[in-house]
Amino acid sequence: MSVLTDLIYAGSNAVMGLTEGAVKDAVAKYGQEQAIAFPDTAYFLPTIYAATGVKVKNLGDLDACLNVMRSLITNEDDLGKALNAGLATAVGAEIIEALKYVNAEGADPYADEKGIGFVSDPIIRSLGVPLVTGDIPGVAVVLGKADDPADAVKIVKDYQSKGIMTFLVGDIIDQVIDGGVKTGLELRVIPLGHDVTAVTHVVTVAIRAALIFGSIQPGDLAGLLAYTKDRVPAFVNTFGALNEVVVSAGAGAIALGFPVIADVDLAENQVEGALISVLDHTETVKKTLEARNIKIKVTEIPIPCAFAAAFEGEIIRKKEMYAEMSSHKNTTCEVVLKRELDEVEDKKLTLVGPDIDEMPAPVELPLACVIEVAGAKMQEDFESVIERKIHTWYNYMEGVMHTGQRNQFRIRISNSAYEAGLRLKDFMEVLYDMIMNDFDTVVDKCQVTLYTDANKAKEVLDTVAIPKYDARDERLEALTDENVDQFYTCILCQSFAPAHCCVVTPERLGLCGAVSWLDAKATKELDPAGPCQPISKEGCLDPVKGIYPDADRMVMEASHGALEHITLYSIMEDPMTSCGCFECICGIMPEANGVVICNREFKGMTPTGMTFGELASMTGGGVQTPGFMGHGRHFISSKKFISAEGGIARIVWMPKELKDDVAPRLNKTAKELLGIDNFTDMICDETIAEESEAVVEFLTEKGHPALKLDPIM
Ligand code: SF4
Ligand code: ZN
Repeated sequence: MSVLTDLIYAGSNAVMGLTEGAVKDAVAKYGQEQAIAFPDTAYFLPTIYAATGVKVKNLGDLDACLNVMRSLITNEDDLGKALNAGLATAVGAEIIEALKYVNAEGADPYADEKGIGFVSDPIIRSLGVPLVTGDIPGVAVVLGKADDPADAVKIVKDYQSKGIMTFLVGDIIDQVIDGGVKTGLELRVIPLGHDVTAVTHVVTVAIRAALIFGSIQPGDLAGLLAYTKDRVPAFVNTFGALNEVVVSAGAGAIALGFPVIADVDLAENQVEGALISVLDHTETVKKTLEARNIKIKVTEIPIPCAFAAAFEGEIIRKKEMYAEMSSHKNTTCEVVLKRELDEVEDKKLTLVGPDIDEMPAPVELPLACVIEVAGAKMQEDFESVIERKIHTWYNYMEGVMHTGQRNQFRIRISNSAYEAGLRLKDFMEVLYDMIMNDFDTVVDKCQVTLYTDANKAKEVLDTVAIPKYDARDERLEALTDENVDQFYTCILCQSFAPAHCCVVTPERLGLCGAVSWLDAKATKELDPAGPCQPISKEGCLDPVKGIYPDADRMVMEASHGALEHITLYSIMEDPMTSCGCFECICGIMPEANGVVICNREFKGMTPTGMTFGELASMTGGGVQTPGFMGHGRHFISSKKFISAEGGIARIVWMPKELKDDVAPRLNKTAKELLGIDNFTDMICDETIAEESEAVVEFLTEKGHPALKLDPIM
């Protein structure tokens, strides 16, 4: 037998033994009936569920899993079979990790560790859009202990600067943290745990992606392995000597299609494209990305601090802050204006007023930002699309935090960014470079002016920005499904959900919440053959349900024949499909003759008896599921929200946070459509009732309009 297969089997057999022992101990302590589950997932023990269809709910169910493990470890001298034994290791690791949650008896077993443990379903769903847009170009698993910690730090920082999501397992966690790398989900460097088995927490992310977005049926092992190989851009870097358990876990990764790059000499045991030795750490990142065929789009911006998507979630606290431009204290606004070509001088960057180094700390300044763009293909409708990106681009700067938009925002610049030399003139450089980079198809010339002079800033706010915002709001208000000529498809999510297609209309934004009709229109202009294509409104067959022949045709084409009919406004008849990254899920509550809406952030139970994750798992992967529909937050106040079934009058329950968030707009729509004041007071939430009977009681007491509508099903 080859050294490699030998090692894999040795590892798998060792994990088999450990798992058997752990299960036996747990059963002895808690009994067969003891529940076992990871927190906040609808997919049980995901690896086992996806591979076999077995829904593990209590310790007694684990016997069957141990049998599956045994059957995978054939000890035959064949690399393919040995890789299957690697999958057994993955199953064993999953069981061992799940048992930690049982042994912690309700507490978080990772609470005292530098690790996060299990990654919940809602987090995976939230990663959908950044993954499909390439904002997160890959997923790294970095495991072990580096001989020289500085090398590990360098590699992790390099991944971070490329936007790669990096999961850490083992002692490397401490090495990286001690080396000064800030960790956390929002910074894309995520410690999972110190035991090798913690690697399961990234494996189940890949596996749940297949279930959530790919519509892979539980038990379809071949489909699962094809999905992870083709669509999950993950890979493994190991540091330090390899023991048999690491090797067999690596075999599991290879079976899933993830190449393993080790920093030890594997000599003839290397497997082309799958198991590779890279001894020189300065080559690790490059060779790894090549092995997984990940191409990084770099935007080199000449500023004195790092500029990368990984810094988007960075928070700058008061004590770390050097300068602040905040609407609470000073005049602020940011506005993009379309101008004629002869009105713009390309790359003219002007600062009117002092920069942050021209006054004593602590620096507090007004800031009015005027970006003027011109181009043959530029349209006024694209102004707001570009303007919304300012937030993202500013946040890409390491040491800069931006929240809010328009004339309500806050910018903080950290001490270290200031010391590195970052100034407001660099902000203009970022805006100019990124606009010319991302919007080059429509923008030929761009000039930027920042006003930190208080009087000038106020003048810009009053005479330029506010009138512009008002005019835009008026336009948006008037922008209805009836008065545009076309809708758009969006198939961006097809890289994960191959059969899914959103239909984006002025009154129904994409279910991710990130693509409005204006965005789709701009995307079509920027990338004519790209993900957003026009849908003609001609020959409407049913304006109430929203049935258009061209929508059917486009969706049929986009879904490769999987879907034949789609309605834009019905949840019961041919509803729009979901990919999986939706902000909210809407589901029928028959007892209340209405619908429940739950947002991704809500962790509690809904009156349907299902959590967000459970409701969400009812649909997705581009499949139509009448009675369930994913959608964006903004859609809740739309006049087109399930208008075929009676519209917003059907909304009977929402989590309080969501209800409060959408209240101003939803109440306005309710007043207009239903003649009801403060409609959200009639909608139940978790602080009022969670049980279905009590919800109905509340609705009856309030005279909720859903109760008087035709039966919803
Ligand atoms: Fe994905 Fe739909 Fe959003 Fe496009 S609009 S990114 S397809 S969820
Ligand atoms: Zn999506």
